[in-house]
Formats: sequence, structure tokens, C-alpha cells
Amino acid sequence: MKKAIRRMLDTIENEVHYTRSLIGRDALDPRVMAAMGRVPRDHFVPPNLRPLAFDNGPLPIGQGQTISQPYIVALMTDLLQLEPEHVVLEIGTGSGYQTAVLAELARKVYTIEVIRELGEASQEHLRALDYTNIEYRIGNGYAGWPEHAPYDGIIVTAAASHIPPALVEQLSPGGRLVIPVGLPYMHQELILVEKDAEGNTHSRDILGVAFVPLREGQDTQGDTMNLH
Ligand code: SAH
Repeated sequence: MKKAIRRMLDTIENEVHYTRSLIGRDALDPRVMAAMGRVPRDHFVPPNLRPLAFDNGPLPIGQGQTISQPYIVALMTDLLQLEPEHVVLEIGTGSGYQTAVLAELARKVYTIEVIRELGEASQEHLRALDYTNIEYRIGNGYAGWPEHAPYDGIIVTAAASHIPPALVEQLSPGGRLVIPVGLPYMHQELILVEKDAEGNTHSRDILGVAFVPLREGQDTQGDTMNLH
């Protein structure tokens, strides 16, 4: 493993340790950490920011959007408790980095990005790295992707004002939704929603976070398109 990635993993481990009382554990699933160690984050950031790719911070990826901080990517992935046969939905492909981490752990990843330029660029990067278990869609993910539901895990990587009901509906029994909820650019809470075997949901606040806003409503601007 590259030294820089090893350093990034150490930083994530430290931050998990510092936040243990909030997140309720002292270490993340070793499978998640191994997946973080396999995905080359430098492939997902703009070329001029590559020297910073393994720092534990968010970075701009164009269009006013950001690639999330590695610690947050690891934590959100861990909260999904993915198993190799799982099917996952991601809202907010962005750089595609989180998508790659999910694709390392799940059988299939469906990912939706509302900004075409970002969706197309991330698809190119993920294909170049030989990920074949991802389906891409350009459009508004607020209403999920009902055609492939239910999902064992749903992850939203932009901040919503509330939990979108369609996403809860598209969770399978035993499924988990991880989503930041709060005001744009203000305090947001990372929330874990679990659906039990009877279809009842329980939600839990995990910790305060800062994400770019989720575009809400169901407008697709006539731009929804599946890419295969
Ligand atoms: N996981 C990404 C995060 C990117 S930032 C990464 O680490 O790179 C959040 C992304 O969500 C942005 O690319 C933004 O365009 C996208 N987004 C915002 N609202 C959306 C919506 N309603 N549907 C799909 N994507 C959305």
C-alpha cells in the first residue's frame, strides 16, 4: 500500500478514536478500512489538488461541489454495515470516490448525480479503475431509483432538509439509510435510519457534519438519463 494511503488510514483511525463517544465505537469495520486502503483517492480529485488527495479533508471538485472528507466516507460506509451480497443506492455521485468504496464492499451500486458534468467524469474515472458493478444515472435522486428497489443500504452524500420519504420506502427490511439532515451550510446531523424486519423505522443521530445541499423536489429538468 502506498505510504500516503497508509497515512490517511492512520488519520481516519485517530479521528474515529477521538469521536468514539459520539459514534459509539472505537474502530470501524476492518473491511471498510481495507476498502479505503484500496481506492486511490488521488484519481478522484482535480490534478492540481493531487498532492492533497490523502489528507483528511474535503476538496473542491468543480461545480461548487466537494469530495467528502475520508473520515466521513469511512464512517458513513461503516454505518451501512454492507455485506458482499448487498445492493446499495447512492445519491450524489460527485467525484465517484464514495461510489468506489461502496463498490468494493457491495454486490451492486446504483448511483445518481444531478450535475451531468460530474456524473460523466466520475463514471469515466470509475470505469478506468475497472469497477463493473456500478450503474449510473444523471438526474435528481431525491425520489430514489424505484426500479431497482429495495436496497440494503442507501447513502445520501448531500444535506437534506428532511428525510426523503421515497428513500425510506425503498429500503429493504433490515436496510439502513445514512443521510445528513439540516440547513444548507449550517449545522447538519448525520442520521442513521434503520428499517426492521417488520418494516418499522428507527432513527439515530450520529454526529454533526457539513455537506453541500441536496437538491430537493422531484424536478429532473428533463435531464434524467441512465448511463450503462
Ligand atoms: N460522495 C461525493 C460527494 C459529492 S458532494 C464525493 O465524495 O465526491 C454531493 C453531490 O451531490 C454533488 O455532486 C451534488 O451535485 C449532488 N447532488 C445534490 N443534490 C442531488 C440530487 N437531488 N440528486 C443527485 N445528486 C445530487
